[in-house]
Amino acid sequence: MLDKVVIANRGEIALRILRACKELDIKTVAIHSQADKDLMHVRLADEAVCIGPASSAKSYLNVPSIIAAAEVTDAVGIHPGYGFLAENADFAEQVERSGFTFIGPKAETIRLMGDKVSAIEAMKEAGVPTVPGSDGALDDDTERTYKIAERIGYPVIIKAAAGGGGRGMRVVHSEASLINSIHVTQSEAAAAFGDDTVYMEKYLENPRHVEVQVLADGQGNAVHLYDRDCSMQRRHQKVVEEAPAPHLDPDARAQVLQACVDACIKINYRGAGTFEFLYENGGFYFIEMNTRVQVEHPVTEMITGVDIVKEQLRIASGLPLSLKQEDIKIQGHSFECRINAEDSKTFLPSPGTIKHFHAPGGNGIRVDSHIYNGYTVPPHYDSLIAKLISYGEDRETALKRMEIALDEMVVDGIRSNIALQQEIVKDCRFQEGGVNIHYLEKKLGL
Ligand code: ADP
Repeated sequence: MLDKVVIANRGEIALRILRACKELDIKTVAIHSQADKDLMHVRLADEAVCIGPASSAKSYLNVPSIIAAAEVTDAVGIHPGYGFLAENADFAEQVERSGFTFIGPKAETIRLMGDKVSAIEAMKEAGVPTVPGSDGALDDDTERTYKIAERIGYPVIIKAAAGGGGRGMRVVHSEASLINSIHVTQSEAAAAFGDDTVYMEKYLENPRHVEVQVLADGQGNAVHLYDRDCSMQRRHQKVVEEAPAPHLDPDARAQVLQACVDACIKINYRGAGTFEFLYENGGFYFIEMNTRVQVEHPVTEMITGVDIVKEQLRIASGLPLSLKQEDIKIQGHSFECRINAEDSKTFLPSPGTIKHFHAPGGNGIRVDSHIYNGYTVPPHYDSLIAKLISYGEDRETALKRMEIALDEMVVDGIRSNIALQQEIVKDCRFQEGGVNIHYLEKKLGL
């Protein structure tokens, strides 16, 4: 097992990683910016190193500082969490070149999956169902481009190969605006991602977002941990997640789960990963793979009993996967509400000092959070302050427990989106399950 790990992240996920390390008797090094010296995991880690000022570019994205912190503390592994450098292939490569273990896939896998054109190609080859599309990047041949769009059928979506975070996409409804939309997306992509490669896909009008969690050891073994539904989104940001995804076509689901496992073996995947799909009319369409732990991983842990972060640490230590597919069974249902430091109506961020925090509890309630009474939420980073996770033997029980927990939860001193979450869990259509990715924005009148 790894002896000492640098936690190259902040907030709730840093604390989550710290707890997993402690369970495995791995020593921990917290690295933090000057604005984050009071973070909970910084207090609880064996060692802490300040790696730079508040600005992420100078701290959590500062590769030489992070590697230097690993060197001075004699750490052996680096866990990137999610966000920041978690899907940066150059970072993974530098970590390994400097003699440390990157807790994640190989740099070449991150690179393959980070380019959506190559990711889709690899998935198609591995037998994972993809969205009908241009099968590669678009070029300057406008006649060819028109033909591709005609074959796919309007509406189509133009997407940046290097895109991320819901940026670099444009929907096109007719031939008249096709070429212009491609040019605009190309220049946006060049400015935002330094790469103007774009491709075309069929635009699915009312899909759900369904994703598959996998674990693989890079030694020929891979398993899936079933699916999650993350369709409750605002501006492509997930707001509520659940596992398993409700009301899926059982045959299509069984096929896609197997296809994800097969794809992991084919690309010799290592670590935890997520295959993201759009799901419409009983069909799955791959959109991208995330090569890291995800915010919503706890809902999968609740229904499978597998600790995904501990598995990441075991795999990175070179151990073969201890789990066999037949041992992984779903029991019950789980929801996660993301609690953000933001106004429930305007969504404006609300950093500041938390005067009073009361975490809900009781049977089937888990709170993953770094906040405490008197903690000041800095304005520099993501607004996630807590993940409220509920579990129940069935969907209805899990949802009821979430409703009770949201009513119990108190975050005073700053604004939070608890009121929005309370409204969501009482929504009739959401309670039935299976709403599409536009549902929340429509409900909010956005
Ligand atoms: P990103 O890496 O920026 O998150 P994704 O490829 O995962 O980009 O797409 C983000 C979101 O954009 C999806 O969750 C979905 O809402 C929408 N989207 C992407 N591709 C399509 C498509 N072919 N049809 C309809 N919506 C799409």
